[in-house]
Amino acid sequence: MRKHIYADNAATTKLDIEAFEAMKPFLLDEYGNASQSYFFSKAPKTALKQARETIAECINAEPEQIIFTSGGTESDNWAIKCVGKTASHKRVVVTSSIEHHAIINACKQISDSAAITYLNVDRYGLVNPDDLRKALDYSDRSDCSCMVKLASVMLANNEIGTVEPIQELAQIAHEQGALFHTDAVQAVGHIPIDVKALGIDLMSASAHKFNGPKGIGFLYDRGKNLFPFHNGGSQENGRRAGTENIASIVGMAVALQKNCAELEKNTAHVSQLENYFIYLIEKSGLSFIRNGSSTHLPGTINLSFKDADGEMIMHRLDLMGISISTGSACDSVNTQVSHVIQAIGVPKEYSKGTIRITLGKNNSKEDVETIVSALKKIL
Ligand code: PLP
Repeated sequence: MRKHIYADNAATTKLDIEAFEAMKPFLLDEYGNASQSYFFSKAPKTALKQARETIAECINAEPEQIIFTSGGTESDNWAIKCVGKTASHKRVVVTSSIEHHAIINACKQISDSAAITYLNVDRYGLVNPDDLRKALDYSDRSDCSCMVKLASVMLANNEIGTVEPIQELAQIAHEQGALFHTDAVQAVGHIPIDVKALGIDLMSASAHKFNGPKGIGFLYDRGKNLFPFHNGGSQENGRRAGTENIASIVGMAVALQKNCAELEKNTAHVSQLENYFIYLIEKSGLSFIRNGSSTHLPGTINLSFKDADGEMIMHRLDLMGISISTGSACDSVNTQVSHVIQAIGVPKEYSKGTIRITLGKNNSKEDVETIVSALKKIL
């Protein structure tokens, strides 16, 4: 049987076997509701506490600053929609033009009641810190003191892998009296993250991007900056109602702890594969542009081929047993050139021929050779 090559790790990742084993008892035997006070709830309650501590430790946060959510989309929506929501203040949100749709569409939804600014990026996908400063500066407005300001810039982009200067951006946001949120869905578990050193107020993460289960994630909230998104019971300290998904929370904590412990090893492996890929594709004679910045997520390779069709490349590779993406995976029904590729200004004759290959810790040198030789055949 032909080997399947999975090279779309930015879309999702394989569940770690240790994470799966750790989840099993909470699906089968220890199914008690963590909110009850009888003995049968002791194991899930303890697991919930430990998972929160583990996750907090991985990002240098305090356990009470971690709120479990259903994933990146919920965390992003919560951050955008619930900062200053019930205050009588005018809301101001400044974000970038290359955010995931979980941010962009959440912003669109509140645009009647909030002033939204989308910052342009340069051709590498980088936000200019001065643009953020200007966009947050309302000092010439008489109602300035009545504003609640939020800046939201992603830590790493899901299509081109560009890592933004988050520490500097967060500092500028604070100087302008704004809170700072970052969508770190692609970064958590893949590059070192220290929320204290970065100086951020809010951060979104999603387990299935770091070998945890799907449908679970978390939101880091430094200082109880959010109004509840879900109303109901008093779970998550009254901040996110709903019976906790203990098995998935435990799986997420095990996966994150493992990825963080093996970060250096995984980065070295994936970077080596990435360099090998670039070496081979440069040698191929194909005409392409590599998109993204030199500071990027290890293993993310976004290429635009001249006069090609990314959709066609993706389908032809699929027939050869190779899974890659054309743009954002969450956006794969949309055949238009993605908003990220448009924002970084990829020339027309290249933009339609854009593909995203995201190598992960389970990929090998042979996978890289097979993908490049398949690309040569197709193009
Ligand atoms: N933010 C980014 C940067 C993403 O890449 C994704 C998913 O691709 C999301 C948010 C949404 O995360 P989830 O799939 O957990 O809802």
